[in-house]
Amino acid sequence: MHIFDTFKSSINQPLDIIKGHSIVIKREDLIHPIVSGNKFRKLKYILREVIDNNIPQIITFGGAFSNHLAATAKVGNSLGIKTLGIVRGNEWQSKISDSSTLSFCKTEGMHLICISREAYAQKDRSMEVKKILNNYPIYRLIAEGATESLAINGCSEIIEKSDIDFDVICCSVATGSTFAGIIQSSSNIQKIIGFNALKNPSTNDFILSHTNKNNWEINLDYTFGGYAKINPSLISFMNTFYQQYKIPLDPVYTGKMLFAIFDMIKKNKWKYGKNILVIHTGGMQGIVGMNRRLQKKSAQLLSYEKDFF
Ligand SMILES: *Cc1c(COP(=O)(O)O)cnc(C)c1O
Repeated sequence: MHIFDTFKSSINQPLDIIKGHSIVIKREDLIHPIVSGNKFRKLKYILREVIDNNIPQIITFGGAFSNHLAATAKVGNSLGIKTLGIVRGNEWQSKISDSSTLSFCKTEGMHLICISREAYAQKDRSMEVKKILNNYPIYRLIAEGATESLAINGCSEIIEKSDIDFDVICCSVATGSTFAGIIQSSSNIQKIIGFNALKNPSTNDFILSHTNKNNWEINLDYTFGGYAKINPSLISFMNTFYQQYKIPLDPVYTGKMLFAIFDMIKKNKWKYGKNILVIHTGGMQGIVGMNRRLQKKSAQLLSYEKDFF
């Protein structure tokens, strides 16, 4: 069976009513056991293009715990398309097995080349990356975070016609391409709130250049110090959330967003509507890597790893 046929459509699951605010969660994390959530949405039309043009090779970028690399490796393998992952940080080349994500990518046949952070910052403009690309005669380059129209169009399909009745739609934001897709398919009277997972002042400009709507806002108050940074109160919130609702959150994106929504409602700081749809963008594969990090610090772990891996 074609891997695209194994994706399920996501369901809207009522979560709770808190201080009169009804919260429904869209379970994009359940659309596929490995390629969860927005990473599939982003890849869908890019891969269609790759298949239609018989391109044998995909080259893309990511950090050592990247959901995007894991998704690309898995989908590429299933479709018989070769994948190369260019990884941030040359120290990883000698310790691939220390990253559960990179080990997974390797198992899925992805070739991994780890480069210096300096070269990584410049991507295909750096000499180091240019040299690597020169070895491949035909390939499709996918930017980190897949910041292109095909990816945004794929993400616009997260929102369905029946979601029109929600006052507010919440989504976690890194590059903003998922958020841009959601804005694209939202109605003008809905408010779309993005929760930044990184301190990235350029996200606003990216969104502005990819949408002509103004029904959105990005919240920067719950980044927890930056990308993939965590603290004990976030971990304990995520564990309590799982105990109560049986929904696993990921530590980089959706955990922070739900912490933010609960916190703002409880502190009477939620100034948007009361009929709330929250997008669970997935990212489950990051849990193992985060627990290894927490273990090294002898900190509290995410309790639900064993239920999923
Ligand atoms: C990548 C990712 C995001 C951020 O997506 P962008 O389109 O880069 O903003 C959000 N949630 C999860 C689970 C992700 O893996």
